[in-house]
Amino acid sequence: MSKRILILSAVLPVLVASFVSSAPAAEKVKVLIIDGQNNHNWKKMTPPMKATLLATGRFTVDVSTLPSNKAPKEKWNEWKPEFAKYDVVVSNYNDGGKCRWPAERRKEFEKFISEGGGLVPVHAADNSSTDWPAYNDMIAVGGWGGRNAKSGSLLRKKDGKWVADPAPKGGSGSHGGGWEYPISNEAPDHPIMKGIPDGWKHAKEELYNSMRGPCKNVTVLAAAPCKRTKVEEPMVMLIKYGKGSICHITLGHVGSLDAIHCVGFQTLLARGTEFCGTGKVTIPIPAEFPTKDKVSMVPPEKVTWGKGTARLGEGASRSRKTAKVVEE
Ligand code: ZN
Repeated sequence: MSKRILILSAVLPVLVASFVSSAPAAEKVKVLIIDGQNNHNWKKMTPPMKATLLATGRFTVDVSTLPSNKAPKEKWNEWKPEFAKYDVVVSNYNDGGKCRWPAERRKEFEKFISEGGGLVPVHAADNSSTDWPAYNDMIAVGGWGGRNAKSGSLLRKKDGKWVADPAPKGGSGSHGGGWEYPISNEAPDHPIMKGIPDGWKHAKEELYNSMRGPCKNVTVLAAAPCKRTKVEEPMVMLIKYGKGSICHITLGHVGSLDAIHCVGFQTLLARGTEFCGTGKVTIPIPAEFPTKDKVSMVPPEKVTWGKGTARLGEGASRSRKTAKVVEE
């Protein structure tokens, strides 16, 4: 047996093993970001969110830009995203409260989620579609867009447990100016939150509070203390809708503030999207995750996704390395 064959026979099982072990990782989670209408600068929001998802190596990302609120009916009839082609939809879309989606699209979307699809509404996406009952169920609570005391319950922590509080008085949706606030981990055993420290400092931004809704099948994952309501407000929620999962993230304002570059936000966006698309979380917590005292803002392409990212990409790099050994 020649030396070359010896090397090959030693390397071949490793080569096969590496392909076998990396096979599931090679299957990326298919994300569709929807945008096109928002009271925020959605054109400024979609690129960094897309960049965050791509930087993890775990996703493919398409963007569907919806017709604006002023678009004629024909434009809406032309909008036919194939939700079923995706694992999860990330929403950077806020119609201001009045849903313009054709009835057929709404039905398709409800079917997509109830049959196991995922949804990640970001920031003002929870201001959207007040008049679409299924959407309110999906997001658990929402604000603005004509919502009021009759729009449902508040989510409130009582005796250490999150409960729906019908609170007959008061509006739905409020925020003050931006500040750097602490966020608590309310569900450290949940796959999205596992390993995330309890209490990290979020980059300066608005703190959404007093939002109301059906509060059905909801788990609060993260919360923050509100200066206005003087209680903890839910910041991130996980909702079940049929077989589908929704990770509602109230964070992520863009404007003069840049919370969308907070590594805490980016981690929740990536892990929440992965969970809603697959039911699992493999994305690690980045090295730059903020601490209790220090905000951490890093552009998406510079975030270190650590060992897990290496693991997700290892099929390619290891096979390249192995191929080099065979050539020698
Ligand atoms: Zn905002």
